[in-house]
Amino acid sequence: MNDVSLSDPAVHVAGVQEIAPELLVVPDRRIPLVPNIGIIGGTEAVLVVDTGMGTANAEQVLSLASEVAEGRRLYLTTTHFHPEHAFGAHVFHGRATYLANRAQAEDLKVKGAGYLEMFRGFGPPVADRLDGDVRVVAPDVVYDDGYDLDLGGRCVRLRATGRGHTKGDQVIGVPDAGVLFTGDLAETGQFAIFPWFPPYDTDVSGIGWLTVMERLAADGHRTVVPGHGAVGGPQVLGDVRDYLRELRDETWRRRDSAMGGSEIVAEVRALLIERHPEWTGQEWIEKGVGCLCTEHPTVTDQDPTG
Ligand SMILES: [Zn+2]
Repeated sequence: MNDVSLSDPAVHVAGVQEIAPELLVVPDRRIPLVPNIGIIGGTEAVLVVDTGMGTANAEQVLSLASEVAEGRRLYLTTTHFHPEHAFGAHVFHGRATYLANRAQAEDLKVKGAGYLEMFRGFGPPVADRLDGDVRVVAPDVVYDDGYDLDLGGRCVRLRATGRGHTKGDQVIGVPDAGVLFTGDLAETGQFAIFPWFPPYDTDVSGIGWLTVMERLAADGHRTVVPGHGAVGGPQVLGDVRDYLRELRDETWRRRDSAMGGSEIVAEVRALLIERHPEWTGQEWIEKGVGCLCTEHPTVTDQDPTG
């Protein structure tokens, strides 16, 4: 998920790039609500990672994937349930086998319809992408913690990470190419996206997310495809980890000194913008501070929505 914007969240498959043999990325071109999309090929099958938002975007992605597959079997997975990542899965229904982790399947079931309604309320470019036959579909195959998908000569590792950006995040690793698709657990060139919208959605966990990033950053991936922003090296993971630590430490330090909520937001926001002047998405800092305030050790037994 990204900030609300009036630009049209159009996926442009013509910009597709081959970052490794039989491993394509359709880049987001830095357009809000457009994700980086992956197409991973083996000798027997092809896996698509994320769909783009709505029918027309997903039809383009399916068409490209079918062209690449040349008759090979198609699979789809989504990194998490947010609209630009998963709300095109209906187009793949009956054409590809849709796999996802159980926590994400639960997010789709419990929160999918509400998010579809919310995003349909965002105005014409976004609402237009979601009108008509867009619906939230359940994955065909649901796994608990991990699933190794054999594409023929290439094994892809689907791994549930535990709660971070959402309750149901998963990452997709392609070990032979050293590539990791992270979904919105990592973004480049912008502040980490905290979908913290109390009382409606408080599933994001800054502390859970940091734990996930500490683990992923230590795993030795050579190439990282973030949910949004430029593809990069392992530093993409290290940068997000470091930012989350910074956000936690600066928030908690002020919380320790009993500073008020709005003052904490103002100070942390100013400080982090000064440290990362080139990053976009400044509106996510405040949400991150709000989330981490409720995760402060002295308040974790209280109602996080209170
Ligand atoms: Zn997201």
